Amino acid sequence: MSVLEVRDLNVSYRTAGGLVPAVRGVDLDVERGEVLGLAGESGCGKSTIAGAILRLLPDGTEVRGSVRLNGDDVLEMRAGRLRAVRWKDASIIFQGALHGLNPVRRVGNQVEEAILIHDPQRSDIDKRVAELFEQVGLPPRRSRDYPHELSGGQKQRVMIAMALACDPELVIADEPTTALDVMVQAQVLLLLSRLQHDLGLAMIFITHDLSVLVDVCDRIAVMYAGKFMETGPATDVFNSPVHPYTKSLAAAFPEIGDRKFRMAPAGLGGDPPDPQHIPSGCPFHPRCPEAFDECPTREPEMYPAGEGRRAACLLVEPARVGGETGG
Ligand code: SF4
Repeated sequence: MSVLEVRDLNVSYRTAGGLVPAVRGVDLDVERGEVLGLAGESGCGKSTIAGAILRLLPDGTEVRGSVRLNGDDVLEMRAGRLRAVRWKDASIIFQGALHGLNPVRRVGNQVEEAILIHDPQRSDIDKRVAELFEQVGLPPRRSRDYPHELSGGQKQRVMIAMALACDPELVIADEPTTALDVMVQAQVLLLLSRLQHDLGLAMIFITHDLSVLVDVCDRIAVMYAGKFMETGPATDVFNSPVHPYTKSLAAAFPEIGDRKFRMAPAGLGGDPPDPQHIPSGCPFHPRCPEAFDECPTREPEMYPAGEGRRAACLLVEPARVGGETGG
């Protein structure tokens, strides 16, 4: 059984102007010990998926479909069961977590709190906090510090310790390196990779940076306008993308040492669509360099696009390619 199984997930935010769709018909599975990367531009629905998995979205948000964590549907859980599942079965490292720590409490106490919610009688709490600090590369004595005494990278390590505090099977890392400088970013990525491997964690790694995902993920799903555009093994998706949108994202990263690389003069033209006015047919057609006459009128499904791969583009529709793409 998969740790996480999401089927036909649809999420719409309630606004003064009515319901605004953010995620549309997403299916995904994460197996034990597997890392799934979610990529795409801001506003494509990546973080909304994370919020839906742990039911952390604002009141009034409409969520349909099913989100099964170890077989139990999170969307059907009562409040008590949900509290028991959060942190223990699945935890999250938030986007912008650097501001997620309480400034007037010692960081060790904040990690402790996550443990005590699930195990109020735990007697070896100091030992467990020290162990967690060591695991994330911080000397245990730093648990007595207040957040302002730590650097950005150290604060993010505390947030990772908190996410691991109750030995979850699934960790969602939502843009965990945003706002860190490049060197610290690399250290935090290495740390997350090592912990994922050592602890056998299932992980969802969310970022707009496709090049980060190829190093840390087994599989990648590329999102646009609330839908998956392409899924497949991480190296295949990055090195030989099928979907024109993935091609544009991958082309934005120069290869170190490639002297002939030239950035496209204008990059990917246009802006991501307004969720209240998603284009007809293929939602990517107004920006797609390979669009043709059928694209504005027919919405592609996820078609097979090679071994273990799928893409939502009419160019790989089986009827067009004669069933050659298999998988
Ligand atoms: Fe581009 Fe058409 Fe494929 Fe959409 S369906 S990605 S517009 S070629």
